[in-house]
This record gives sequence, C-alpha cells and structure tokens, in this order.
Amino acid sequence: MARHNKTILITMSRTPIIAANWKMNIGPAEAKEFLAAFKNEITCECKAVDKVIVPPFITIPAVMEVLNGCTCVGVGAQDVSDRDNGAFTGEISTTMLNELGCKYVVLGHSERRQYHGETNAYINKKIKKALAAGIIPIYCIGETLEQREGGQLETVLKSQVVEGLEGLTAEEVAGLVIAYEPVWAIGTGKTASAADAQDAHAFIRGVIAATFGQDAADKVRLQYGGSVKPGNAAELMSQPDIDGALVGGAALKADSFAAIIKAAV
Ligand code: PEP
Repeated sequence: MARHNKTILITMSRTPIIAANWKMNIGPAEAKEFLAAFKNEITCECKAVDKVIVPPFITIPAVMEVLNGCTCVGVGAQDVSDRDNGAFTGEISTTMLNELGCKYVVLGHSERRQYHGETNAYINKKIKKALAAGIIPIYCIGETLEQREGGQLETVLKSQVVEGLEGLTAEEVAGLVIAYEPVWAIGTGKTASAADAQDAHAFIRGVIAATFGQDAADKVRLQYGGSVKPGNAAELMSQPDIDGALVGGAALKADSFAAIIKAAV
C-alpha cells in the first residue's frame, strides 16, 4: 500500500478523538460510578482531545445527568434507526437521540454487521439519517481475518467506504469519524501492528481522496479500533493517519480509558 504523503499532514490539524464503546456493559448506576472516577482523571480544560462515551441506550440519561451540561465529554449512541418513527419495535430514532443530547452515533460496528446482518447499503441509510439530524456518525469498517489472509483487505475496505458513504457530499464526509477496526482485533487482545494499522488508514484516506476529494480526505478523522489499551495507544496514535481510537474492553474502567486519552495528547 502506498504511504500517505506526510507533507500534507504537516499542514493539517485533525483533533484526536477517543471514544469508549461500552457495548452491552455498564448500566445507569455503574455509569455514575465510572464518571465520578473519570472526572477525577480528566479535567474539562483538556481540549486537545475529543472524548466520547458511547453507552447502551438505557444508560445515556444517567451519563447526561452526571455530565450536567459539561461539554468536555461528548456522548454517543451505539446505533440508530434509518426510519423516522412508528411501528419499529426496539428501534431508537435520531429525534430521540437529539432529545437526549447525543452528539455521535456509532454505525456499522462489526458486531452489528455480524449479529444483525447489517450491510453497507443499510448502514448508508443510517449514516444519512444521522447526518440529516446533525449527529456525527462514527462509521466502523474493517476486514475479517479470512478476508485479510485471502488478500481482500483493500477490496473490502474500499467497498465499505464507497458503498457506506454513497451519496454523501464531500463536506459531509469531511465531518465524519471513520473507525478502522480489523474484526480479528476486536476483543481478542490482538492488535494490528502500528505499521499495518497506518497502512490501512492511509489506504482508507486515499479511497476518500479519490472518491470525495483531497479536502475531505485531509479533514475526515480516522480512528483505529481493536484491542487498544494504555500500553499500545501512544504508538498507534503517533501514526500520521491515525487520529484517535475506538475502544471497547479497555474503556470499561475509568483509569484505563483516561490513560488512553492521555496517550493521544
Ligand atoms: C470495539 O468494540 O469497537 C473495540 C474495538 O473493542 P476492543 O477495544 O475490546 O477490541
């Protein structure tokens, strides 16, 4: 894969973004304990990194209550419906997320692709719905081990980018967060090497440049996700095309999530 042109990066400033994907962990009571500890670790003055917590839907109001309007931590949802409202049992709408004050929504996580059959086309509808509601999608992409070993890495990433972002304007793409999460690294303790992760990120940015233009590619923030922890975060985030991390397991404890944030400063 071609390395990204570093001269461009010298003139770019993409604020790092670190997000905690709590998945189906941490109910309202535990979230309050987490945030009490987390607030001691991270001060509101720390503006160098965008910090995001993505709790289960039912925990979002408790997180908002503790944050009490503090904007130093953004809150996201783990999914959203592609519909407005109505007879869609179990679904949550963008209007509801806006009512709670959610700034972000994680879309296309590999667990939603794997367990709920979500396709690039379906995720594309959700991305458009989120953007129409002013909510920033954190769009997850990434290959399985079988695809990587079968030489399909670039084909898979390209189709996830092109199909998932189909119909978006360059300006909309510039404002997105895209999380590159190799499926084989999620929750397994196996992390992509910093060099492999950088190569994949540079490839993704190149696809965005070819599809939506260089300005969008220079502005879009790319996170790495897959067994990020305090011990490997700094090296991953020092790579020129890695602008942050989407963190699962290591974001379930306030001290370890805070340590990853500090590694991004
Ligand atoms: C994730 O859930 O997106 C993730 C990257 O999980 P983990 O950090 O546990 O691998």
